[in-house]
Amino acid sequence: MASDAGVREIRSPHDGSLVTLVPEATGLDVSDAIAAARASFDSGVYASWSWAARSALVAKVADLLERDAAEIAIKESNDTGKRLIEAGYDVADVISTFRYFAEQGLLQHDRIVASGLDYIDSRIIYEPVGVCALIGPWNYPLLQASWKVAPALAAGCSFILKPSELTPSSAIHLLQLIEEAGAPAGVANLLLGSGAVVGAPLTEDRRVDLISFTGGLSTGKAIMTTAAKTVKKVALELGGKNPNIIFADADLGAAIDNAVTAVFLHSGQVCSAGTRLLVERSIHDHVVAEIVRRARAIRLGGPQDLSAETGPLISQGHLKKIEEYMSRAVAEGAHVLTGGKRSARPELQAGWYFEPTVLDGCSTEMDCVQEESFGPIVTVEVFDTEAEVISLGNDTIYGLAGAVWSSDSAKAQRVARALRHGTIWVNDYGPYRPQAEWGGFKASGTGRELGPTGLLEYLEIKHLWTNNSPTLSGWFKKPDQGEDA
Ligand code: NDP
Repeated sequence: MASDAGVREIRSPHDGSLVTLVPEATGLDVSDAIAAARASFDSGVYASWSWAARSALVAKVADLLERDAAEIAIKESNDTGKRLIEAGYDVADVISTFRYFAEQGLLQHDRIVASGLDYIDSRIIYEPVGVCALIGPWNYPLLQASWKVAPALAAGCSFILKPSELTPSSAIHLLQLIEEAGAPAGVANLLLGSGAVVGAPLTEDRRVDLISFTGGLSTGKAIMTTAAKTVKKVALELGGKNPNIIFADADLGAAIDNAVTAVFLHSGQVCSAGTRLLVERSIHDHVVAEIVRRARAIRLGGPQDLSAETGPLISQGHLKKIEEYMSRAVAEGAHVLTGGKRSARPELQAGWYFEPTVLDGCSTEMDCVQEESFGPIVTVEVFDTEAEVISLGNDTIYGLAGAVWSSDSAKAQRVARALRHGTIWVNDYGPYRPQAEWGGFKASGTGRELGPTGLLEYLEIKHLWTNNSPTLSGWFKKPDQGEDA
């Protein structure tokens, strides 16, 4: 925890009210936290625990999260402005993540290599990667942290978690639970503060072995550049501009309903949001009219408003970014069919509410189609053929997720396989499982979270060769050997 710097006011995105005060770290705190993590790792106080013992600790954290779930959901909801019910779903997913990695830990074993020699024991062993800097975003603060913390703990790493400066409360609670579960001192460390004061120094320090980061593309690039100086391992999840493709032969009721959820859930502040709608020309008018009708009916409101369907943007700064994105979209010719501006509802003026927005008449050359807005804005493009929509769907620097809607399963599978994105849903949008890898192609990132690969990110792979019957190598002649020896 931070000790000696200033105190930050955490304010509600819903109405600006004070949520809590948190202490923030200084550069010295960062150095101390790295030193603590390094010392704990190098001493083997936790890394030397068996897989079974570490799995038990991770499972214990899951139990404690379950015990405190309601309290944590309130904290998450207050910091992010999302509805309490959504925060509750997030906490349930966090618990599943810890349970999954506890189970994964129990499945780990050395891999025996067939050396072809019966006196050789050749095996691949998996060791914790070391000290990890885990840097998270504000949209799903605890969930994104859990995708990093749970595998790091299962693997035997020591870590320093840096949540977004805007949403620290659930991370504070998690670290208390990890301590309560019995993690040795120095294994789990928390640093609160900004990216500049806390995040950047973590990525520069040679005592850190791995950085796992979720956030924006430009920050990801900066981290990768910095990490190169000390050759750290880097795992990045950098968002996406995700194509949601609807063919004319799809179940349009399901496709339209899911398209609305895909983009307007959590006011679009979701890395995998379906922000790029690609609609076959013959159904364009019907699909778009229906999405506009549905968007206009969405009820915005704060965490305590039981009738609300989605909440505010995270901050005034983020609202400003979205307003700038909108101005550029209009300037480059997008047709604003609904939304496009801050909500005018009087009771929402103290918060950062933006109307669900539909932009029609878009094409891939437009910035609004290429840039991630991270807000409740969907761009609409039309297509005529399967080949065209594959090309359009791949015409982005990103590659995180996408969906294909069609009742022709062979066509849907062809398109799904041709799309260069890390997750593709067919006739669905959004589900994920801790058992399945999550991550991006291209500029959406490097590495994978969740699934067996999500644990592997936190492990070094060592080849251990043991000769049980040592003999001379016989390669070089000994000086006392004669020519014929
Ligand atoms: P950032 O990428 O700026 O921040 C993500 C995390 O990185 C935060 O904890 C932040 O700290 C930290 N950070 C910032 N700069 C550095 C640095 N130089 N070195 C190390 N850590 C750093 O995201 P934002 O919160 O500003 O959001 C910007 C955009 O990122 C969004 O509009 C959206 O496009 C995208 N985003 C993507 C997410 C995803 O899931 N892929 C999630 C959230 C955002 P702090 O903010 O506390 O200063």
